Amino acid sequence: MELKNTYITNEDKFLQFNFWVTTYCNFNCRYCYETCDKPDAYMSQEIADKAIEFMYNEIDTKACNALWLNFHGGEPMLNQKLIVYVVKKIKQERPDIKLFTTATTNCSVMCEEAAECISELTVSLDGTKKCHDMNRVRHDGSGTYDLAVSNALKYLELKGNVRTRMVVTPDNAADLSDNIIHLIELGFREIMPGIDHFSKEWTEELFGTVYHELLKVREYRLAHPEYRIKIGIIDSAIKRLGKCYVGCDGYQIYINGKLYPCTYAAGDEYYEVGDIFNGVDVNAAKRINCMNNGKLEACAGCGYYEYCISPRCRIINQKLTGDHMTPSVVVCASENLKIKLHGIK
Ligand code: SF4
Ligand code: SF4
Repeated sequence: MELKNTYITNEDKFLQFNFWVTTYCNFNCRYCYETCDKPDAYMSQEIADKAIEFMYNEIDTKACNALWLNFHGGEPMLNQKLIVYVVKKIKQERPDIKLFTTATTNCSVMCEEAAECISELTVSLDGTKKCHDMNRVRHDGSGTYDLAVSNALKYLELKGNVRTRMVVTPDNAADLSDNIIHLIELGFREIMPGIDHFSKEWTEELFGTVYHELLKVREYRLAHPEYRIKIGIIDSAIKRLGKCYVGCDGYQIYINGKLYPCTYAAGDEYYEVGDIFNGVDVNAAKRINCMNNGKLEACAGCGYYEYCISPRCRIINQKLTGDHMTPSVVVCASENLKIKLHGIK
């Protein structure tokens, strides 16, 4: 069967589903927002079959032509057989749907067949061995750099390009340029640094350090145009975000078939909005939409209001500050950093 991957373009009308193939992870990264208590549970083939039916129905009802399917975990490659099964089944049953697939792996296992099924694979690497092993550890506390880099390079060779996701924390901020340059020198060309929004250790000064580190990366990039380097935090467009309505873009489909509006909410009973067996719970969805509707008073007057995730996503606010209507100071500082970086390309 043709497993050749496709990409979604501006002309496509698509829905995005986050398929939780497992909640378990064999790593225990110190900054993991999913906490160290990850249930050792996997999505079954029966649930996947029902979830696929649910997605077809959503796609057809909303007259979409494309499906963006992200395989999520825990560590998604620990349920590699299900990833392969789902992709082959959709391609066979619905060749009329343009299928785009993504996944982020910790590179603990090498899964060639699953990797072939992923249109855009992201590997999680934090940079140099020192910085990677500081946070990305196994359950016994040992560092994962050697294994992760060895498998990430195999994925790179297999796929030609993989994106690299790195987590920027207060304890590795000062090493950010070294970490990014290390990954570039290993052969990766698309680096996606993401600020650890859950850390309470961030200060204004540390955000200044991140900014200056990224200026150094820009210098390096200017000196090496032949590498065609992409750095997410510098290159990402600043877009007006619009309101979030439950289901407007798709759903989280959890290991047990329950539906949630976004990744941060998945598995939290308070945000459950139905399941793949009985469909969307309209009242639950309405309750979340109402919560997203009110104005965020704390951000009144901010010129960045329509571009920032805090006014759009009340669930992130709740997860970070304990209150839907209170934005996180770390998110605010990250969004301001993005704007400041926008001027430096
Ligand atoms: S690999 Fe990902 S899911 Fe696993 S512990 Fe690390 S951050 Fe969490
Ligand atoms: S969190 Fe900060 S950047 Fe975002 S809208 Fe509020 S004040 Fe503006």
